[in-house]
Amino acid sequence: MSTTADVREVLPGSLGPPRPAVVSGVTLVCGTRPELIKLAPLIRHLGDECAVVYTGQHYDRSLYSPIRADFPPTKRFHELGVGAASRGVQLGRAVSAVDEILAAHPGRVVLVQGDTTSALAGALAANAHGLPLVHVEAGLRSHDRAMPEEHNRILIDHLADLCCAPTELNRRNLLAETIPAERIAVTGNTVVEALRTALPRARERTAVLAGHRLVRDTYVLATVHRPENVDDPVLLAVILRELAALPLPVVFPLHPRTAKSVDRFGLTRLLEPLVVLEPQAYPAFLALAAEAAVIVSDSGGIQEEASVLKRPVVVVRRSTERPEIAGTFGVLVPPGPRIGSAVAAWLDDVAAHRDRLRHIPSPYGDGAACHRIAEALEVMFPLG
Ligand code: UDP
Repeated sequence: MSTTADVREVLPGSLGPPRPAVVSGVTLVCGTRPELIKLAPLIRHLGDECAVVYTGQHYDRSLYSPIRADFPPTKRFHELGVGAASRGVQLGRAVSAVDEILAAHPGRVVLVQGDTTSALAGALAANAHGLPLVHVEAGLRSHDRAMPEEHNRILIDHLADLCCAPTELNRRNLLAETIPAERIAVTGNTVVEALRTALPRARERTAVLAGHRLVRDTYVLATVHRPENVDDPVLLAVILRELAALPLPVVFPLHPRTAKSVDRFGLTRLLEPLVVLEPQAYPAFLALAAEAAVIVSDSGGIQEEASVLKRPVVVVRRSTERPEIAGTFGVLVPPGPRIGSAVAAWLDDVAAHRDRLRHIPSPYGDGAACHRIAEALEVMFPLG
């Protein structure tokens, strides 16, 4: 039976209250919106003795400010200005800027999350200082060497002293690369805690929808921002045409990278049929995602969130490092005409799909990832 129950009510509970300052002297290095989102619950758990180094890889205020505003307090928050540059220049600038911070405030352990240039910079800077390195969200593999993130992940995992793998599959990927089992902990993904903290309640979600004149289950939420989709004018036009042809309104929070490409390639008129929004604050975005009939996205984090929100997601990519949701919450389609047919398959009976999906557990864990990461930190790096 379909229900309007608050999504939070059907999620399993977390393992007790946060344990502040479980591990002191942790420096978290990050530089993008998704890293801030997924590290926030870990900081709440570890306590405000943590220091954060934000490289400024995502420098556009529309991506940074709304997420920073909700970020928990920390002992120090260093904001660096790595900014717009080629990948190599960003990496070089970030390594040297993080190196300066670590020279002044070495701490005991450096922690990075995910697969960004900033995460790799943090890993290299930690290595240069002989500091232990923790990799959160370790062991993801797309096996697609065309993705810069794939190289970042592999490099960080092999530098790390502790690899916190969200899933069993991620652990197996690490073992297959001869990373010793003692260096791996299966923890789940902190995205579950991030989402639970930020997801507005049912009434507030309805208000968010009303602000955009939307009604639950009768719209599609879409995001695209990955370079392979938006830096190519032909592919970007195909994706936008597919979205425009969908039989429901399409809400499209426009990533600044995509906005630039639309402008540069003269594709502005293809946005006209879409409900184009600014990048949303995390709670507002989750409200839109929780109530959408279908999500269409090339984002990594949104694939995971779909499984927690129990919404179907059409993943517009050639490969994914998150195969755990294939066949349940997610379907992978290359940018092109299959987007429309994949969405249509979910629209045949939205209420029935909602009912079916709400009984499938998320492969990304039970909301206790921060607890397990803190425990693994304590075991691996006991306070001297
Ligand atoms: N997100 C957000 N506002 C938006 C669009 C996305 O807060 O307007 C969140 C989304 O819920 C997810 C994260 O941003 O947690 C995904 O970031 P992005 O797609 O930039 O990166 P990726 O996950 O692909 O690394």
